[in-house]
Amino acid sequence: MALWSRENRKNLVQYVDLFEDVPSEYEDEFKKWDQRLNNADWKHKFLDLQHEAVKNQTVASDFDSQGNVHFERTEFHKAMELYNQALCFAEMDSQKGLLYAKRALCFFNLYMYAECIADTKLALNTELPFEWKSKMNEYQEKGTKLLSTTEYRKPIAPKLSFDADTTFPCMANVVQINKNGLETNIVAKSDIGIGQTVLLERAFTSIAVGYDTAVCFTCFKMCTNLMPCADCTDVMFCSEECMRLSDVHKISCGNNYSRMPSYIKLVVQSILEALTTFSSDYLQLMAFVNATVSRKVTETNTDARILNYGQFFGLKSSSKPLPIQLIYEAYTTAMAIPVIQKMFITEKSKRFLMHLVGHHVQVLLANSYGGFEKDQNQFIFASMTNVASLFQHSCTPNLMQHTIGNQTILITNQPVKQGDRLYIDYIPQEHEAEQRIVTLIKDFGIVCTCAKCNPPHPMIDSNLQNDSSFELISQYTKYIPAGIPATLKQKCVEFLQQHAEKPWSEEKELVINVYSQCLLAELDNQMISV
Ligand SMILES: [Zn+2]
Ligand SMILES: [Zn+2]
Ligand SMILES: [Zn+2]
Repeated sequence: MALWSRENRKNLVQYVDLFEDVPSEYEDEFKKWDQRLNNADWKHKFLDLQHEAVKNQTVASDFDSQGNVHFERTEFHKAMELYNQALCFAEMDSQKGLLYAKRALCFFNLYMYAECIADTKLALNTELPFEWKSKMNEYQEKGTKLLSTTEYRKPIAPKLSFDADTTFPCMANVVQINKNGLETNIVAKSDIGIGQTVLLERAFTSIAVGYDTAVCFTCFKMCTNLMPCADCTDVMFCSEECMRLSDVHKISCGNNYSRMPSYIKLVVQSILEALTTFSSDYLQLMAFVNATVSRKVTETNTDARILNYGQFFGLKSSSKPLPIQLIYEAYTTAMAIPVIQKMFITEKSKRFLMHLVGHHVQVLLANSYGGFEKDQNQFIFASMTNVASLFQHSCTPNLMQHTIGNQTILITNQPVKQGDRLYIDYIPQEHEAEQRIVTLIKDFGIVCTCAKCNPPHPMIDSNLQNDSSFELISQYTKYIPAGIPATLKQKCVEFLQQHAEKPWSEEKELVINVYSQCLLAELDNQMISV
């Protein structure tokens, strides 16, 4: 069954029913899923316990006391995770206040004084017992003093190193996207120096996997002064602003999809992103998608969100057969959200939604990263970026990819010449050549012939080894306890500039890796100036 194919029955032109005429084994699976979906099987699973997804003072107290155990053991991050869980379930203001107060103490012990002060304020806004009230005032004072005397390092807000491209504002104007049929090549329009930020893109959609209550639902900030949604137990926000901005959560607050496996959650959330792109006017969404599918787009859109959605919609789809079961699960999940149910009433609009879900699934399968296929909590995020997804893979890439919250950032990790193609590494976690080759074929259909997978020249470059800077850089681990010095970064830059023409070698890769560490330290503002 092909996506977006139409049928003409009783003079009514509509998309075909994707779930009709499927092999019988699917029908059984569909029924099993329907039962699961309707039986409210969707509880919070945390620390091997299950909890109904409703505010509950006792559950909150349980999490609270578990948090205290970790606090006693000076495991402050773990303690905060549990206090956050408790906050999501807390019913009364006084209970929340105490939890904010305890989190303030965690932040204090983690030397995060600005966050500590912010939490004391949240706590003092509630009815606190007297001794906690004075404790909060005391910590607010202590925190303020320490904040003014210690050097406080705020992470640096990244920005593009060049003016923005006019078509893709998240990309630098020194980069060009060439589409040639199905193939997309991204090249440098001019020479680009080392350490230049060429892309800074907010994800089209992203979900937290297994750590939903440790990040802000809207901006994905972590380890900050999170506040629970007042109405559900599923999400937290870092500010009133992020709470107000989340039109996706307004539609789905309290819905089961938040607690579903990540592959369903990501698909459903992408559908909600699509809908809210058109101010939740499903007729506009249908008109836009129908026009795009039949290539009858007449007006050019100037709305940034609609352009962004158009980019998402136009990304390469998975070439694998339609995963009907997954599409069915995501479609029925979306239809179980009351707002969606009220919109997609007619058979014609339901068929549209089926195909839209199918289309999103195929795009997400081909382009998203994180815990999409597996759901084993080993990923914190599953994320979907539109422009970053266009970059091709290399095991020896010239761009370093990093995510900050739900933003993807690409920085050159070596000098780039005009006309050079720009690459990212799709599987930076795979270091072993054999495993990498298998994963590239299995997950991306890429038969890699790069220098690293198929070395045509020696992998050890003794010339580089003899470079005196190499010895210094290769001993970089000794710097890590005290912080990475700016001079180390400078050494890497000089080395990589000097040996820019040299082919890939283990020595070069080591220096690139150290350089990447330096870039990350710099973004975190953790580089020391010696
Ligand atoms: Zn936020
Ligand atoms: Zn909510
Ligand atoms: Zn390779």
